[in-house]
Amino acid sequence: MEAAWIAELRAVVGERGIVDDATRLFAYEADGIVLLRQRPDLVLLPRTTDEVSRALAILHRERIPIVARGAGTGLSGGATPVAGGVVLSLARMRDVLELDPVDRIARVQAGLVNIDLSLAAAKHGLFYAPDPSSQQACTLGGNVAENSGGPHCFRHGATTQHVLGLVLVLEDGTVLDLSEPRVDPLGLDLVGLFVGSEGMFGVATELTLKLTKKPATVETLLAIFESLDAACDAVSDLIRARHEPSAIEILDRLTIEAVEASVYAAGYPKTAEAVLLVDVEGSEVEVENSVRAIEPLIRARGAIEVRVAKSDYERKQLWAGRKGAFGAMGRIAPDLYVADVCVPRTKLREVVAHTTRIAREKNLKLATVFHAGDGNLHPNIAYDRRDADEVRRVLEAGDEIMHLCIAAGGSLTGEHGVGLEKLPAMEWLFTREDLATMCRVREAWDPDRRMNPGKLIPMRACLETKQALARPEHLT
Ligand SMILES: Cc1cc2nc3c(=O)[nH]c(=O)nc-3n(C[C@H](O)[C@H](O)[C@H](O)COP(=O)(O)OP(=O)(O)OC[C@H]3O[C@@H](n4cnc5c(N)ncnc54)[C@H](O)[C@@H]3O)c2cc1C
Repeated sequence: MEAAWIAELRAVVGERGIVDDATRLFAYEADGIVLLRQRPDLVLLPRTTDEVSRALAILHRERIPIVARGAGTGLSGGATPVAGGVVLSLARMRDVLELDPVDRIARVQAGLVNIDLSLAAAKHGLFYAPDPSSQQACTLGGNVAENSGGPHCFRHGATTQHVLGLVLVLEDGTVLDLSEPRVDPLGLDLVGLFVGSEGMFGVATELTLKLTKKPATVETLLAIFESLDAACDAVSDLIRARHEPSAIEILDRLTIEAVEASVYAAGYPKTAEAVLLVDVEGSEVEVENSVRAIEPLIRARGAIEVRVAKSDYERKQLWAGRKGAFGAMGRIAPDLYVADVCVPRTKLREVVAHTTRIAREKNLKLATVFHAGDGNLHPNIAYDRRDADEVRRVLEAGDEIMHLCIAAGGSLTGEHGVGLEKLPAMEWLFTREDLATMCRVREAWDPDRRMNPGKLIPMRACLETKQALARPEHLT
């Protein structure tokens, strides 16, 4: 017989808002990291903030862990379910609630797919600037939880710079409306604190987002290199010379091969060791001047050819190749380990070369594609998860790459978050005091740690904090 609390949840979200049969639950057992799997007991698909609030109040009473889920495109195991827990999917909450072209804001439900906001804003000459390569699928709520980036965040800034307000549901069902006032926030910046909290502070149900004016002109350059080092050096030169393209991306040889063999084929030359993809935007004159200045600079670093896209179609094709690159890697092997690390731009060349050495030593297929302007690397390893020894080498390489980036003054993640995957690595980067502070902030939002438990902050640090707080000498 069905437990009473499940019947209550069913009454809240309706028959279509609940998934409890094994076949359909299968679709929710992982995010983009398929190595990490856990079948949830139940999935809820509410449609409104009120339904989320009522569902969370029931789960609070029953002390059941909750994992919020957008589209499940995350690449750090953030949306991986927890044993005995419920997944709360925002997939049916995808309405544009308001779009104001004068204030240049949109109020949307958190399950709206990223690209759909730009499509809705296009008729007003506006767009939503943060553009993860997964933007055809990922949700804006997921972007907020991960503080997602994207190729054009080099110029426009990551998600946090575009979030003006949030409606949140806390773990006990309390609704917190942080969407007013829309002008400069007063008091503590709770919205800023929530962005990047990886589903551990509550569920975002409605978002107030900044829209950006579409540039009058955009040009896309494709620079072809005989070495990856030279492409990295060209990026440093561009920035040193104070050029401000809106995007600077690098794809290496294996990535090019994969893209060109796939449906995303963009016309990248298969013999190149690397290509640099640069977008320049602004007024017609600004763009013309920038292209004229950038081209010789890139050639001086050894580009054998610099192409400027001749049409909007060609531009779109060049970007479709970049944005489809992860998917295209299915051409190399059935599985892909997407590393996401960040280093100071000055260390790009050295770190990229070192990651190549790590992969070679471990006999792994490395395909690197990255947001070069931001120093945000994605050394991707194509592998087959049925080969246990290869999986072991992939995970070892992933750890070595993270250590390498920390040693270079970089970070564990540029945009994909910590989730489950990078949990142990948090202790490599942060001190006990750092982690203890994070635990205390987290517990202010979710005292029982039922929202996405076991992610982002190592449990050991949380337990230590709890013990320390229980000791009276801590207060003296
Ligand atoms: C092909 C591909 C390309 C990608 N490219 C990029 C890229 O360029 N830049 C980038 O930053 N990322 C990229 N990603 C990673 C991923 O798409 C982003 O992290 C994205 O923001 C996840 O959104 P989602 O809706 O799929 O969230 P999910 O994967 O479902 O969830 C991610 C995290 O957010 C939490 N969460 C989701 N919705 C909510 C909510 N409403 N309230 C509270 N917490 C919530 C979940 O609990 C989880 O911790 C890429 C992924 C793929 C597969």
